[in-house]
Amino acid sequence: MRFAITTLGCKVNQYDSAVIESRFNEAGMERCGFDEVADVYVVNTCTVTDRADTESLKLARRARRLNPAARVIMTGCLAQASPEKLARAPEVDQVIGLARIDDLLSAATDGNLPRVMVSNLRKEKVSLSVGAVVPAGQTRAFLKLQEGCDQFCSFCIVPFSRGMSRSVPPREVLEVLDSLHDQGFKEVILSGVHLGGYGKDLTPAVTLERLLEMIAERCRIGRVRLSSIDPEELSDGIIDIVSGSEKFCPHFHLPLQAGDDQLLEKMRRRYQTNHYRERVERILALMPDAAIGTDLIVGFPGETGEHFKRYFTFVESLPLAYFHVFPYSIRSGTTAAKFSGRVDAGEIKRRSELLRELGENRRLNFARRFIGARLKVLIEETREPGSQRLRGYSRNYIKVLIQGPDQFKNHELDIDASAGDGLALVGRVVPAPGESAWSGAQ
Ligand code: SF4
Repeated sequence: MRFAITTLGCKVNQYDSAVIESRFNEAGMERCGFDEVADVYVVNTCTVTDRADTESLKLARRARRLNPAARVIMTGCLAQASPEKLARAPEVDQVIGLARIDDLLSAATDGNLPRVMVSNLRKEKVSLSVGAVVPAGQTRAFLKLQEGCDQFCSFCIVPFSRGMSRSVPPREVLEVLDSLHDQGFKEVILSGVHLGGYGKDLTPAVTLERLLEMIAERCRIGRVRLSSIDPEELSDGIIDIVSGSEKFCPHFHLPLQAGDDQLLEKMRRRYQTNHYRERVERILALMPDAAIGTDLIVGFPGETGEHFKRYFTFVESLPLAYFHVFPYSIRSGTTAAKFSGRVDAGEIKRRSELLRELGENRRLNFARRFIGARLKVLIEETREPGSQRLRGYSRNYIKVLIQGPDQFKNHELDIDASAGDGLALVGRVVPAPGESAWSGAQ
């Protein structure tokens, strides 16, 4: 049996798709491209905006056209949040909610199951399993420690679509890290839908800080990177652990969302701009070379020209390494969808472009700061398209390109960065002491 899977939305969805793929493979099914003729099509949907909903249905229609006899299954956040809407679409055979991987597998082969299989994740405590990871070129693995969220920011659908916060117990996290080390992974990215909420649901409760302490003491993986953490949840302790352990990469992703206190309050975020600045300064005081990135929403309802001016000035004043800019797009079902003061689409575009331009400059300047420096770079499995150079990321998340043989892949190498190439750096491998060239034995 051939199956095809397509993924919309964020890294967490990509993680879920990797879990689905590995379970389908174990069941003896063979993956093919989403533009090929398959027996089963899985659309892993996203519901972050109303536009994402339309896209999900478009993909279902495309699958149906490719093979009218195929089973078309919808899963993911939209399937979880609006199952009836999807079930009404004639091209959809089955709607399977989140955390129902066994049902998804059965749905692929059995046409007699109920058309909609979705649990209420806000009422049921569905446990989170950590059996699989997303291999990104086989050098970095994503490990999802936490799912769901209890915060209800006014723009966000996640607490409705992914349910209550659930965490993987520390013992299991450490076991999976050990097994990833034994499989040859050199870097693991600890991720979660709301990572800062880690452990509050466990009995006894555990903090993210305590988990990181255990990882610093016991984990054998050489590089551990944290994904996004909300600013109010980034404790001094976490910053100290990351700065005090060679295992953790000096890289933080702190979603700011808006650079203005009134907007932050309307968004129901739990910090103010001065707190954000203080976190950034504390990180850089201990780790001056750390990369700090952020997410920014532009055109939130009620964002006036004055707000945006303050927002832009605040962001401009922060020593950030990169931004992800998201033009606000309405998401039915969230509190913000009912807010007045919608910002004109053209104005949202203009403001987004201003921030994107600033972000590009920041990324470029951050990378160029390290020309002439020695960086530890983990070389990935895939070469850079076009130039065919090897590529990898430094601990502080700068893309680095080098010439070299395939043996370099999946090794962390010392590289002297000598020049810039777009947003990346180019460099040369530093030979081990006593060697004139790299021997491949690291
Ligand atoms: S903390 Fe993050 S996941 Fe939770 S509601 Fe806010 S934006 Fe959404």
